[in-house]
Amino acid sequence: MTTIEQLSALTQILAQRNLHTLFQPIISLSERRILGYEALTRGPSNSPLHSPVPLFAVARQNARLSELEVASRQSACRRFSELQLPGMLFLNISPETLLEPEHQPGRTLQLLQTYGIAPAQVVIELTEQAPIEDFSLLHTALHHYRSMGFSIALDDLGAGYSSLRLWSELRPDYVKIDRHFIDGIHLDAVKREFVGSILKMAGASRAQVIAEGIELPEELAVLADMGVDLLQGYLFSRPLDQPSSDIHALLPKLDTSAAQLTEEACDLSALLNRQVAVNDSALIAQVLEVFRAQANLNSLAVLNEQQQPIGIVHRNSLASALLKPFATDLFARKPISRLMSDDFLVVEQNQSLQQVSRLLTSRARQRIEEDFIITQDGLYLGLGRVIDVLKLITELKIQQARHANPLTLLPGNVPIQQCLTRLLQQAREAMICYVDIDNFKPFNDIYGYGKGDEVLLCLAQCLSARIDPSCDFVGHIGGDDFLLVLGSEDWRKRLNCLQEDFQGQCRRFYRPEHLQAGGFSSHNRQGQQQDFPLLSLSLGVVHLRPEACAHLDASQLAEMASQAKHHAKAVPGYSLHILDTQTVLDQSPSSVARAS
Ligand code: C2E
Ligand code: MG
Ligand code: MG
Repeated sequence: MTTIEQLSALTQILAQRNLHTLFQPIISLSERRILGYEALTRGPSNSPLHSPVPLFAVARQNARLSELEVASRQSACRRFSELQLPGMLFLNISPETLLEPEHQPGRTLQLLQTYGIAPAQVVIELTEQAPIEDFSLLHTALHHYRSMGFSIALDDLGAGYSSLRLWSELRPDYVKIDRHFIDGIHLDAVKREFVGSILKMAGASRAQVIAEGIELPEELAVLADMGVDLLQGYLFSRPLDQPSSDIHALLPKLDTSAAQLTEEACDLSALLNRQVAVNDSALIAQVLEVFRAQANLNSLAVLNEQQQPIGIVHRNSLASALLKPFATDLFARKPISRLMSDDFLVVEQNQSLQQVSRLLTSRARQRIEEDFIITQDGLYLGLGRVIDVLKLITELKIQQARHANPLTLLPGNVPIQQCLTRLLQQAREAMICYVDIDNFKPFNDIYGYGKGDEVLLCLAQCLSARIDPSCDFVGHIGGDDFLLVLGSEDWRKRLNCLQEDFQGQCRRFYRPEHLQAGGFSSHNRQGQQQDFPLLSLSLGVVHLRPEACAHLDASQLAEMASQAKHHAKAVPGYSLHILDTQTVLDQSPSSVARAS
């Protein structure tokens, strides 16, 4: 399309106000509710300017961005109000239009009034499409929006020219992590580090993090595990003309089996207090009676007719509401829905303790004496206490530390054994890899134990970087022996990359003459001088098949992995030897039993 054609298409769209708005939900995992919807503009479906990217680009080039912004915002507010969508309205705004002299800040407020949307419901999303030159002007413009009651989100964090500077200058209420960092996060340790750092910065600056562009359940599992609570992406819903407002329809079932290889397979049953709940039509006087009768009751859940939690009453807040003059008389015969809070944490019983702990710490307003609600398939089961979560987590941390390898801090033999046992119990297909460094002993002799430790740390890091935390496991048996459990299908590719990574990373440890010669000379186990090649990996792999699980125990499995490693060790340099549990069983089922 020529520039002239583009301009004419744009002019026509603006003249006829031929724009429409799609909405994509943003959900809160911890609260199992829809936080709000992002409004996304579309040109006419038959136009080359249907997608907002070329549409806004052409408007920008032709100095008609403000006009398009105003029209888009109007369409978004009108549709949001027509559809009666619940929660917040997220509006995209190009920052440069805020800086234009003809910009009229009062116009948005007017628009909201027309459509009956409260300013507190609106979040302004800023994306940086061009470098921002005047930060102080932008600051002023945003201050103006804030004073009108809007919240601010920084969109596409990590994609713009000065995302971090914008973050620190504007102190947004929300930051939306750019899709790039979410795409394939389960396969990429560096992306996980980025998101982890963003979460830390957000914690310090009291911003809430939204992850956009979630397409795969594996990505969701990793994000949920890291404690990212606000989520948006095709996995839940594409942007739609009439999006769903039913959270149960949007939320895919979280696969909690993911965390179970690395963590104690504990669900929340240990935390569950089967406290009765009340219906939302219960009278405040009745609720008071329940609290009076149970002196140690912190909180009481309020349910709808389907037994789904819709609110919570905490002892403290009820007491302070009723302490006001005449309050008891005024409220006694009113339903509890008048005094309940709708800001509460709900978790599913099969979520892991770690997930719940992360959700609790990510909640800005969580108080220790306020209980959270535990559900099963969305239906009320009972309450959980924050203090119990803290106790269990502390115990778990102490136990993990006790069983970790002191050098690499990776799980040691006890958790390795537990992991293998769980694998067998769950009858999962997996590759169990015994990882051993070739020529580590002579390397240690020449370079000393300090350097040797550095090599072990380097391998631990390479291993951790190559695993998918949603389905893999890495442990340190001791010395230069590690154990890797890979549940992912692309295990062979991962192992090849691991070898390359390790050899590349190790180059910094060698003296130049050894690097050049491709090896070093040292005493062998018999005390004679011998030439050794540079460090490499021997990988003994056991292909565990679900059918074989019933016939094996954890120590037999470990023994097979060690056998596979011995085969691999017999081959000089990098080598990989695979033993298949099926063939071993086929040949002689009793030989496996004897191998123990
Ligand atoms: P954005 O604000 O970052 O919006 C998110 C984009 O990601 C949307 O593209 C959405 O459809 C897409 N998306 C959401 N979930 C997924 C997912 O799981 N996978 C993938 N691959 N994509 C996903 P869309 O609607 O094409 O919008 C593109 C950009 O155009 C927006 O990026 C926003 O910067 C801009 N835009 C859209 N509407 C407006 C508007 O009214 N005003 C302004 N200033 N910009 C707008
Ligand atoms: Mg956006
Ligand atoms: Mg975005």
